Amino acid sequence: MDFRDSPEEAAFRDRLRTWLADNAASFKASGDEYWAQQGTWHQALYAAGFFGTSWPKEFGGQELAPVYDVIVDEELARAGAPPRPSLGYLVVGLGHHGSKELQQRFLPGMIKGTERWCQGFSEPGAGSDLASLITTATRDGDNYIINGHKIWTSYSDVADWCLVLARTDMDVARHKGISAFIVSMHQDSIEQRPLQMINGVTTEFGQVTFDGAVVPASHMVGEPGDGWRLAMTVVSHEREPSTLGYSARYGKLLREMASRTGGEVPDELTWAAVQAEMLRLHVRRRLSEQLDGINHGPQGSLDKLLMTWVEQSVGHAALAVSGTRDPELLSAYLYSRAQSVMGGTSQIQKNIIASRILGLGV
Ligand SMILES: Cc1cc2nc3c(=O)[nH]c(=O)nc-3n(C[C@H](O)[C@H](O)[C@H](O)COP(=O)(O)OP(=O)(O)OC[C@H]3O[C@@H](n4cnc5c(N)ncnc54)[C@H](O)[C@@H]3O)c2cc1C
Repeated sequence: MDFRDSPEEAAFRDRLRTWLADNAASFKASGDEYWAQQGTWHQALYAAGFFGTSWPKEFGGQELAPVYDVIVDEELARAGAPPRPSLGYLVVGLGHHGSKELQQRFLPGMIKGTERWCQGFSEPGAGSDLASLITTATRDGDNYIINGHKIWTSYSDVADWCLVLARTDMDVARHKGISAFIVSMHQDSIEQRPLQMINGVTTEFGQVTFDGAVVPASHMVGEPGDGWRLAMTVVSHEREPSTLGYSARYGKLLREMASRTGGEVPDELTWAAVQAEMLRLHVRRRLSEQLDGINHGPQGSLDKLLMTWVEQSVGHAALAVSGTRDPELLSAYLYSRAQSVMGGTSQIQKNIIASRILGLGV
């Protein structure tokens, strides 16, 4: 397999480099400032033709091969620019399970960044065991009324819409009674409270309470009881590192750390460099499989686990290089701890690998 750019890909990369040289400097790549600017960054990337490149033209994308997303990720990392806002899982969820009307109404704004979204799945008592969620949606004429409490909801402070999982039927098996809704966040009956992360960031995620929030029945995604299928599509897509595009960022951070060591390279840094290169090649292999139309299903858990190992190795290298002296490297270490929790914990990925890939009886 030849991983070098085709002439078209090389031209796209050149255009992007030029654009980044002119535009990236005014955007912060981390911390609260990054979160505050994320919406403007999304819209700027989209307007310049560098966001949503692989998504359908019908909804504002360009229908280019997924490799263009990887080029964008690589060049953003190289330029020290903020990452591509991660929305692919929502686009895929709505794309697979939403009606044509819902797709036409919501996908263009989501892709262009004119409407912001969050994902309301986890609850204080339902994370790994998502099917135990207790938020309810009760039919009331043409609407449903939502009551419940979501937590760890990324971007909830700026979201216009939330993809909410709620229980609509108490009398069937747990996962069959869950439905998915597109809920407007602009309601007095919804309260959003920020949660501070261990690295000090206060605007990345929050907890959201729904106290009689109203959602039109037409905003249900799929049929009543289809929420579990949608959730499985969304989380398995969240687990693919090629769409997360982190590997280029790890490489850049490691090179920066290496330049600070003054010749004596700690073992943690060497190990992280080996792992990051392994992930880079793995992501490329996944991409070429995607281009051949291979759908990975539970293999996404393997990808997520590998990515977590690499990110946490990079975090350990950051500590080895600078201890707690450099706030940026310390933040990279602290954030890496979240990687084995978000999008499904590492233990859950191992369970999926054991049962669905290796066929072990767990
Ligand atoms: C940065 C970040 C962003 C997030 N963003 C969102 C978001 O936007 N929307 C959203 O809905 N959620 C979000 N989450 C929540 C995330 O999906 C949950 O935290 C995750 O699914 C784990 O659930 P939990 O925190 O309830 O932990 P629990 O499920 O309570 O797990 C606690 C521990 O028990 C282990 N455990 C649980 N069950 C098993 C089992 N069967 N076998 C072995 N071990 C087990 C877990 O691995 C973990 O170590 C986010 C989380 C983070 C950290």
